[in-house]
This record gives sequence, structure tokens and C-alpha cells, in this order.
Amino acid sequence: MRVDVALIHPPSVYDFRELPSYAGPISEVVPSLYVFDMYPYGFLTISTYLEEAGFKVGIFNIAAKMLADRKFSPPKFLKKLNAEVYAISLHWLVHAHGALELAKIIRKLHPESTVVLGGFSATYYWQEIMSQHPYVDIVVRGDSTEEVMRQLAERISQHRSLEGVPNVAWRDGNKVRAEPISHVPSDFNNRVDHWIVAKNLLRTRDMDLTSPFYGFKEKPVTAVITVKGCIFNCITCGGSASAFKCYLNRSRVALKSPDKIAEEAESIASMISAPIFFVGDLRIGGEERALAVAKALREADLGNELFFELFYPASRKILQEIRRIGDSIYLHISPESPIEEVRRAFGRPYGNSELEKTVKNAVSLGFKRIDLYFMVGLPLQKPSHADKPAKYLLYITKEATARGRIDSFVAPLAPFVDPGSLAFEDPDSYGYAILWRSLACHRRALTELHWKQILNYRTSWMSREEIAESSARAIEEMAKAKLSLGLISREQYELTLRRIELDRKISELASSQARREDLAAAVRELVETEYRATEDLYPSRSLAKSLRLPLHLKLLAKLLIK
Ligand code: SF4
Repeated sequence: MRVDVALIHPPSVYDFRELPSYAGPISEVVPSLYVFDMYPYGFLTISTYLEEAGFKVGIFNIAAKMLADRKFSPPKFLKKLNAEVYAISLHWLVHAHGALELAKIIRKLHPESTVVLGGFSATYYWQEIMSQHPYVDIVVRGDSTEEVMRQLAERISQHRSLEGVPNVAWRDGNKVRAEPISHVPSDFNNRVDHWIVAKNLLRTRDMDLTSPFYGFKEKPVTAVITVKGCIFNCITCGGSASAFKCYLNRSRVALKSPDKIAEEAESIASMISAPIFFVGDLRIGGEERALAVAKALREADLGNELFFELFYPASRKILQEIRRIGDSIYLHISPESPIEEVRRAFGRPYGNSELEKTVKNAVSLGFKRIDLYFMVGLPLQKPSHADKPAKYLLYITKEATARGRIDSFVAPLAPFVDPGSLAFEDPDSYGYAILWRSLACHRRALTELHWKQILNYRTSWMSREEIAESSARAIEEMAKAKLSLGLISREQYELTLRRIELDRKISELASSQARREDLAAAVRELVETEYRATEDLYPSRSLAKSLRLPLHLKLLAKLLIK
């Protein structure tokens, strides 16, 4: 196969099938599995932009393909994939191992081509990448790289120097040169052509290789990102206001306009009835903007289940307008801890009474479900807090009308405190100790057996051992509470207990320096159990059943999905 630009998503650890490892019970809270198989949203905006500029672009989700097909050989596949530019995502730091290994393999297979790394983590670590990894030719930096990638692809196809292409760091003979991160658009209205995904599938005829994430075929979910940057400063977040300023050179958020948000959601809804997750609190940019987005979405009459995030409690008026958007509206709130001081220390400055008022209003307005997310590994948090999220769920659902309408999830802050975040840059001030700082250390940590050894932090209140055990207890207690409320089945409950049991066993053996080979079977069973135990974070029906295409396209798509 031949493309101009191949966008490649790696697994977190290459090859996780040979080297089993487990970065933490994160699929409690995101659609990705333990190898972080969901490709970044930027793949869609970049491929749309480049295709419109005349380049042939392919998206290849190597992580999802490796999960789906145990015999799939990345080198064999990559050998047959010819591209002028191979752009590998190193957006999330969990891909530190997989991204660099794939870069090395591609360099060997295609010595004449250009190997590019991009994403937030690549931006943060660009100097280390360029000095330690000679098989990487270019790092594309910044939070908006569509135009940068266009200029880069054009220059490479014309064999011209990259001098003057904003944001890039590249090799010029033996020297590494870098242009400043000056391309920082003030708005965020890039078009996303969702037909790109279908086109990509037609090109490869391989659903697993082109899926946004491994489980997409069984439980598709889609997203519209509404804002770039944030106005808040949750202390461990690499997407916070201070992190964007620190290494992405963005001092103001870039907003997607209400019309663009609606247009993008309509484009998804015209193809598929899967849930749509609107990433980013619509009130960033002001309540007026939130109301305008709600109006535009209501007029779009999407008919999909829609998820909205609230970064802080909302007024009844805002809730009312969001609720009026459609029939199945879900809310996603992350208080992080039911203990107010912990929440405040983390950077979410609101109390329980405001939170409960929001939840009560949402229940009375008929939101389909209100999801509350909690985390372990926060400032001021102690092992004795482990049962608090479960108790809070029981407390907040005590009114009969709230039963079944409020759900709750808990997971550790794992595996990494994000580089660029306040806690990473100034750990002492926030009660954190950061154990690895370089890309090399994170990359090495990812190959550890148990996720407590992968964590790049401990806090003044909990060691890594305690964070792992508190997480296990918190998940266990939450499962008990959910079983009693009828939110999960007994089978799911028992799978969760089995997963925790395996997690503890591996943790114990990992501490006693057991050999990796001896533990491999337990790690494999753990990841398998985790997959089966994962609850539905969102309503699910298979991709084949979700298609909203004209009949002839539907038949073709079903054939390709199989
Ligand atoms: S975690 Fe906090 S800082 Fe990060 S994006 Fe969410 S609200 Fe913003």
C-alpha cells in the first residue's frame, strides 16, 4: 500500500504480547484497553486537512490491530506500507515505549523515508527525542499541527529544507534545529471529515487496523472536542491552563464555535447512531457560549445519546438547556474525591452542597444518567479514604428517584502525573514526589510488571504501594455499592473481585522480584478479566447495528466490518 503520509498509533508497550505488563485499571474510565489503543482525535483533523490539500493519508492503528490479531506482525505489515512520511503519535506519555520502538522499526525498513513523532508528550520531550533517538527525523510540536504537517509534507515531497516551517524540530546534517512554536491558532474550527474513517477502511479493508480503538466494532463511541486548552489548573493534568502555557505556548483557550460543534456532531450522526461525547465543559468561553452550543445542537436534532462534561457545578438554567438538546442526555462530572479539602487541593474548588444541588437538579430534569468519577492518588488523600467514593454513591442515591440515574466510577491516577502539570513541574509545593522525569525513565518504567512500579509519583500521604492497595479497595467497595444499587450484575461484580484478586497477587509477586515469565500467565489473565469486567461506560450496540448509511453503503460497510 502506498500513501503520502501514514499516521501510526502505537501500543503503549511494544510488544505487549511478548512482554506482558499492565499500566493500571484505567479501562474503568476510558474506552481504551491496557495498551491505550485509542488513537488521538488529532489524527482525524490532520488527515482531513492533508487530504483536502491533496495528500493521500492513511490512519493505521497498530495497537488495536495487535490486540485483535495475536499473530499480526507489525514489521511485516510496515514493510509493505510505503509512505513518504511516517508520523507516529506520542501524544500520551504511556506510548513512550511503543512509539519509539515503531519509529526504530520503520527507520530500518524504510531508510529513505521520514520518521516523525508528534503530540503533547513528543512536544514536551522533543530535545531528548532528537538527541537520544537518531531514527526520529522530526518532532512536530504544539497543540495544532494540521498546517504544520501540510507544510512539512509539501517540503519533504519537494526535497526542500524545513527552515521556516513553524513548530518543527528537525535534523540538518549533524545538527538539530528547531523553529519556535509560533503556530498556535486562536480558534479551533478545523474541519473533521468523518468519511475519512470510511475511506481509510476501504483502502485497507481491515477494520481492526483502522478502528479508532480496539472495542469500536463492538461498542462504538465518538467524540467532538469543543475546546483546546483549559481555564482550570487541576494539578496533575497535562491539559491544564498552566501546562498549555508551559510547553505548548498557548496562553488562551481556542474555542470551537457553536455551529462547528453542531456541524461535526451532525456529520457523525449522519453515519452512525453511537453515543457522542462532547469533550470540554461548554461553559468554557462563558455561559452564553454554552447556551448557543445547546441551541445549535438542539436544532441539529441528532438522535444519538449525548454526553456532556461539567468541570464544576452548573446552574439549573444551564442544565435545563443541555437537557433540552435531546432525549438521551448524560452528564459526566469528576469531583475526584467526596472529601472537599482533597478536591480543592487537587484544583477543583467547589463543595459538596453545590455538587449535590447540581446532581439533584439533573435528576429532576430527567437526564438519563449522571456519572461521577473519583480518583486515587490525590493530594491530602490517605489510605483510610478508600471507601469514601462508594459511601458517597450510596449517600447521593439515597432518594428513590435517583436510583439507577446516578452511576460512579473510581480509578487510580495512573500511570503518570502529566509532564507540564503543576505537580510535575513543582512537586514539593503540591505534596508530590516525581520519581522519573526523563522520557527514557518513563519508557523503562512502562515495561515493569505491576502498575504500582510504573507510577511516576508518590504523594506525601501515600506511597505507591498504598496508592495501589487503596485503588484496589476503592474499586472493590464501589463494586459492592453498585451491586447493592443494581447498577451492575452479579457476574460483573464477581469479575471485578477476581480482577482485584489477580491485581493483588501480581503486586505481591512483583514486590518479591518474581521472574516475569512466572507472572506472565497471571498478567494475561488479569488483562483478559479486566476486559470482561469492564462495565459499559456508555450505552452500547455494535457498529454494524449503529450504521445510518444508505442501504448499499450499509451492506458494503457491514462486509468490511466483518
Ligand atoms: S482535568 Fe482539570 S485542568 Fe485538566 S482539562 Fe479537566 S478541568 Fe481542565
